[in-house]
Formats: sequence, structure tokens, C-alpha cells
Amino acid sequence: MSISTNLDEIQNNIKNIKDELSINRDITLIAVSKTVDSQRVLEAYNHGQKEFGENKVQELVKKYEEINNSDVIFHMIGHLQTNKVKYLVNKVKLIQSLDRLSLLKELEKRGKNNNYIFNCLIELNLAKEESKTGLHEEDLLELIEKIEECEFVKVKGLMTVAPYYEDLEKVRVYFRKLKNIYDDLANKNFKNINMEYLSMGMSHDYKVAIEEGSNMIRVGTSIFGERNYN
Ligand SMILES: *Cc1c(COP(=O)(O)O)cnc(C)c1O
Repeated sequence: MSISTNLDEIQNNIKNIKDELSINRDITLIAVSKTVDSQRVLEAYNHGQKEFGENKVQELVKKYEEINNSDVIFHMIGHLQTNKVKYLVNKVKLIQSLDRLSLLKELEKRGKNNNYIFNCLIELNLAKEESKTGLHEEDLLELIEKIEECEFVKVKGLMTVAPYYEDLEKVRVYFRKLKNIYDDLANKNFKNINMEYLSMGMSHDYKVAIEEGSNMIRVGTSIFGERNYN
């Protein structure tokens, strides 16, 4: 299947779910382009796809420079090492993987040095899977308190990578949980925290995620095919 056919199919699926459930909100599709070369990113872009997700800073910066088109928008969705933060100034719409205090500190510092605001999503690891990064729910308040002290970091929502289950009803539980936290935070008055994006849902579970309130899905395999890590 070609990239454009795949994109059409996913947009169609999104439309169908929206129609079925009478959902009015916009749902942003992030094409996850990790391991995918710039040429294929451009192929997707030429078919109307604007936003892309990368999980490695070096790879993101390389494509950003190769593509050199401010209309192609990148998101950092992978684990972010503090020593790589500086390379992301001016290059990403959202850092979706804010998951710890040390990273927050570094973002604030680099933001201040460059007079640049980092827009972020807090990544939560609701199932506390050891193989995954992401903040545990009980540490959320502490991080939020520190975010409120920042000048160069703004939080625009939440992100999660749900545990993998064949049985999507088991996955649904985590999406529902994240939506509850999202609604809870949206009802509070924070200076630096505004709930705009609920980033949840990947190739195998995005339909359930949308049913549970996602407005941003991150899809790789279903657009670009199986990844080749060589
Ligand atoms: C790789 C990745 C995705 C996309 O996963 P697919 O199963 O290929 O759709 C989404 N989110 C994150 C954080 C990822 O690392």
C-alpha cells in the first residue's frame, strides 16, 4: 500500500468514527516518521500530511534540515535526554514527552537562554510499565507545581503510550483514565497549563482512543509500513 492510500484510509476511518459518535472536535493526525527517510516524509507532506512525530533528536534535526520547509511541522514524541534539549529550540511544535523534573529544569534553562517557549505535553505512564518512560500519576502534582514556576515552558495537554493488548477493551481503560485526568486539569486554573491536546492512540488502538476522547493520534506503521531499524 502506498503512503497516500494509507493516509486516505486513516482520514476516512477518523471521519467514520466522528460521524458514528457525532464527534465535532478536530482530530490531529501526527504521522510518526521515525526510521522513515525525508523523501517519504515529503511524500506524505505532498499528500496533505503536515505534522510528523520523531522519537530521536538527531533524526528529527536531520530531517528538519534536509526538508527545510517551515510548513512541515515536527513533534518530539520520544524519550528526551536533557543534553539534547538545546537542539530542539525553534524546531518543534510540541515536546510530547515531558515526564520528569530534570527535563523540566533543562527546558526552562534553554528556553530562557534563547528567549524561546517550549510547548509541551506531560507524558503519563499510567500502567507503570517499566519498559516505558512517562511520569507516574502520583508524581503529577509535584511536576505541575514546578511547571507553574516556569516562564519558558507551557503545558498544552497530556500524552500517553498505552500498554499493548490485543484486546482493545483492556487498552480502553487507560485511555479513559487519561481523559479523566485531562478533564480534571482542564477544570483547574493554572498559569502555565492549558488542556488543548489529548495525545493518545497509535496504529493498533487509535479508534478506541478517539472513542475515549483523544484529539491527537500518533500513527506510524499504518502510514509508512513496518519500520526497518537497520
Ligand atoms: C512509534 C511511536 C508511535 C507510532 O506507533 P505505531 O504503532 O507505528 O503507529 C506513537 N507514539 C510513540 C510515542 C511512538 O514512539
